[in-house]
This record gives sequence, structure tokens and C-alpha cells, in this order.
Amino acid sequence: METLNIDGIEISVKRKKIKNLYIRMNSSSGKFEANVSYSMPFADVENFLRSKVKWLKKHKNLIERRTADISQNNYADGENILLFGGKRVLRVFDCEGAPKIFSDCGAIELHVNSLASKEYRKKVLDAFYKTELEKVVPAFINKWLLQLNIKIASSVFDKAEHSCGGGKFRKLVCPSSDIEKVEVSIAREPIVIYKRMKSRWGICSISEGKITLNTELAKKTLRCVEYVIAHELLHLKERKHNKSFKDCMKKLFPDWKTLEEELKIL
Ligand SMILES: [Zn+2]
Repeated sequence: METLNIDGIEISVKRKKIKNLYIRMNSSSGKFEANVSYSMPFADVENFLRSKVKWLKKHKNLIERRTADISQNNYADGENILLFGGKRVLRVFDCEGAPKIFSDCGAIELHVNSLASKEYRKKVLDAFYKTELEKVVPAFINKWLLQLNIKIASSVFDKAEHSCGGGKFRKLVCPSSDIEKVEVSIAREPIVIYKRMKSRWGICSISEGKITLNTELAKKTLRCVEYVIAHELLHLKERKHNKSFKDCMKKLFPDWKTLEEELKIL
């Protein structure tokens, strides 16, 4: 892959079987990519991209402003807060007693003691993110249990067969190919835990039938939330990120590349 630097903006140039030239910017990472036909001389590619320098700078600034905006949150009145991929204005009101936080007319209202520290406000916001996730996650879990052919064992016989000691989950083994279609049974619906995590979006504990989701997921699009849930549920069938696991995820989420890009920023 070739790389071009236009006025300090780096652009990856990918040769493809196409007639024209396309420039794309990944809205999460802010990286530019130009898809170019095999026959186009490199000098022509460079000239074309130079002619688009205004557009490139405009979009680079936009993404930089957005990232700076969000990562330097002090949780003060008027700041922007992310919720399911969109920006919301935070409205802070002074209040005595227990803090309250809720979404109202597109804004997020935080009622908190005016002396509350940034860390405390952040904690209240984390709890809000957990509540928002709880509203959408169960429907995604049901959808993907169905889609992935993961059944909840309902009869006593099924429970005896598919769980071991103390209601624990037995290790599920799937043939390596087509793991989406293979039917498996689990003893009960997976338990979902919401937790602020520093480096992971989700964890699946196969033995406990437990899925832990990062509360920060509430900042990402619903599509990302769905993608992480499907990924963790698929682990109930396949522990490793092997080829069949990856192939299955790619098939179920044709937009997986965009989603992976979005999820690179935690
Ligand atoms: Zn995984």
C-alpha cells in the first residue's frame, strides 16, 4: 500500500479494480483512504488529492475537534456527551441530596450538588450509561441467541444434559465449520453485567454463562452495541477467535470493518 502526505494529512492509497478514484474518511479514526484504479499513475493520484486539500482539511479538523471535545470532558454545563453515537448537550443543575440524571428533549440533564467533583459527576454518568444500555441490550441478546441458534434448555431433562454441577455451563463444543447454524443449548439465559472497563468492550465467561459489557459502549452506535453482543454470545459456541469465529462474524455483519474501526477508540 502506498502512502501520500498532502499538507500534513496522511492518505493511504489502495489499488483496486475500479475505474475512478474514491476518497474515504473513517469517521472514528479520522484516517483517510483513497481507492484508486491499478492504471492511474501515482503523480495523477497526488495531483487529484492536492486539488481536494480543502475538503481533506475540513474533515480532518472536524474529527479532531470532536475527539478533543469528548475526551476532555469535565462534565460541566454545556459540554457535549456521547450517547449511542450522537452528541448530546449536558445540562447541569445544582441540587441537594441524591444526584439525578436523565435524557430530556435531546439533552442530558444532570442534577448534582454544585460542589461535586469531576470524578463524582463521571460516576453518575457511568450509572446513566448502564441504565441506557439496559434498555437496549436484552432485545439484542434475544435476537442474537435466536440468530446464533443458542437455545435455553427448558425441560428438566435438557437442564441435566446441558449443565453440570450447581447450574454451571458445560463447555460447548461446535464443529469448526458453520458455527452459526449448529444448535446448542445453555442452562439459562446469559447473565449480563455492566462495568466500566479500560481495555475491553465485552467479556464472555463461558463456564458461568456470563457476559460483561463495558458501560462505555453506550457512547458507540447501536450497531456497535449489537456487534459486541453478537461477538460475546458467539463465544458460547466457540471460545477462540479462530477462522470459523471470524468468518461467522463477517457473514453476520457485512459492515464489520467499519464497526471494528469505530470500536478501536475506547
Ligand atoms: Zn472475543
